Amino acid sequence: MRIEGFPASPGYAEGPLFDLDRPPISYRSKASAAEEEAALKAAIGNSVSRLTSLVETADGDAAGILEFQIAMLEDDALSIPAFASIGSGQPADAAWRRALDAEIAGYESSKQDYFRARAADLRDIRDQVLRALSEDGETAAPPGAILYGEDIAPTRFLETDWSRGGGIALKAGSTASHVAMLARSRGVPMVVGLGASADKPAGVALLDAEHGGIVFSPSPAEVGAFRQSSSAFAARQGKAQTFLAQPAATKAGTAVRVQVNISDPSDVDGIDIATCDGVGLMRTEFLFGKSLPDEETQYRAYRKVLEWAGDKPVTIRTVDAGGDKPVPGFTVAETNPFLGLRGIRLSLARLDVFRVQIRALLRAAVHGNLKVMFPMIATAEEYAQAAALFAEEQTALAARGVAHELPPLGIMVEVPSVAIAPEAFANVAFFSIGSNDLTQYVMAAARDNAVVAHLNSVRHPAVLRLIASVAAFGREKGIPVSLCGDAGGDPAAIPALLEAGLRNLSVAPAQLAMAKAAIADVSV
Ligand code: PEP
Ligand code: MG
Repeated sequence: MRIEGFPASPGYAEGPLFDLDRPPISYRSKASAAEEEAALKAAIGNSVSRLTSLVETADGDAAGILEFQIAMLEDDALSIPAFASIGSGQPADAAWRRALDAEIAGYESSKQDYFRARAADLRDIRDQVLRALSEDGETAAPPGAILYGEDIAPTRFLETDWSRGGGIALKAGSTASHVAMLARSRGVPMVVGLGASADKPAGVALLDAEHGGIVFSPSPAEVGAFRQSSSAFAARQGKAQTFLAQPAATKAGTAVRVQVNISDPSDVDGIDIATCDGVGLMRTEFLFGKSLPDEETQYRAYRKVLEWAGDKPVTIRTVDAGGDKPVPGFTVAETNPFLGLRGIRLSLARLDVFRVQIRALLRAAVHGNLKVMFPMIATAEEYAQAAALFAEEQTALAARGVAHELPPLGIMVEVPSVAIAPEAFANVAFFSIGSNDLTQYVMAAARDNAVVAHLNSVRHPAVLRLIASVAAFGREKGIPVSLCGDAGGDPAAIPALLEAGLRNLSVAPAQLAMAKAAIADVSV
């Protein structure tokens, strides 16, 4: 039986199914309240040590998630109600579940996106302690297993040993989730949006995360066909590595620039600068994770990436908070955040925050080849206001004798108004097409909702026509045009993007080799 879903991280996995949704082995009650209390304390302690050892090997985003969970577990506010319930006769598992469920309900009903998003972390914390309380304490999936269930918590991903294969198959889930990002960067095959299955599949399954599907209880013929596709994929990947060291070019010899997308400055640590043409997009939202970063913190982060890149260009995007990226103390609660106060709109509404970032960027510019772009631009006035703020802050830095430089200023093309009428932006230094948002706005299909994922396609003629017309406008006016949405690293989308006239793509570092190999197969 094959079920179709959506690929979230390409690859193939064949292995036993591991049920992500199975309830923890039942807890055996203790003889006294004191023993119950000790059991809960030990389970919380075990969970904290497990998370602490995971932090040691985690990078950027993953470490942030884990540190948040440790802080929550160490906060007495979470455990006091549970210990109180134990005092009034409850067993440890029921007491903990009740205390956490009450807390989760509070977060879920919050008007703030940020707190609603944190409910998932609390569910994760609840289940970790429940598993630690249960008799077997077994938490990790066996190596090589396909983790199958409704959704998957980031800690489950991080504690799984992926060195011997395996994959993730989710009934719900989203290609834009944290785990999907982690899976892509570690090369773990993942499919989302499989929907509920009528019966409970068990045994061995075949996960095809190149096309997006899973086969339960496969026949020998299905296993044979699967292994063929899987080795063809592995061969393509192996071959792709040979493209990594060379500049990208099509079959016809047309040069294509391939840059990388990063978020945390530590992302560049694992990339050889010789394998790419610089940074096409540095998302700066990560810096705004827990609190608003000061000028010095931002300056150091930008400078690190600029120094790593040397002469090659680094395009840093001003903060794109809002939408699916809430930032406490900055973004506002909205009923429709993707159409609300996000990106440049929020920066222009919060000049106190924006000016700090502008100063950090102006100062960092002296350390390399910096370009700055603004996210979610919809009108020329927004660009003009943002550019004027750069000029003002530049004058102020000059008056104070602080070293700085004004970088070229460009815009993201991700709101349809810009792609349809780019002539209002003939004065910008460059365009970078954000195909993730452009596609969701053109198709009216959210980028983070598996139910409408079939509509969210960059290859729809409406989206491609807009991309081609922006590329043509850029050529006519001498304005460089690149693309930094996820489509740039998708071998299935690359031919259409090059045919639309693009010659500059920016992709996730893990996709660099495959993107260059896919470019070499195109005849333009
Ligand atoms: C995009 O929208 O394509 C893009 C690159 O920006 P983000 O994914 O950060 O919204
Ligand atoms: Mg975007």
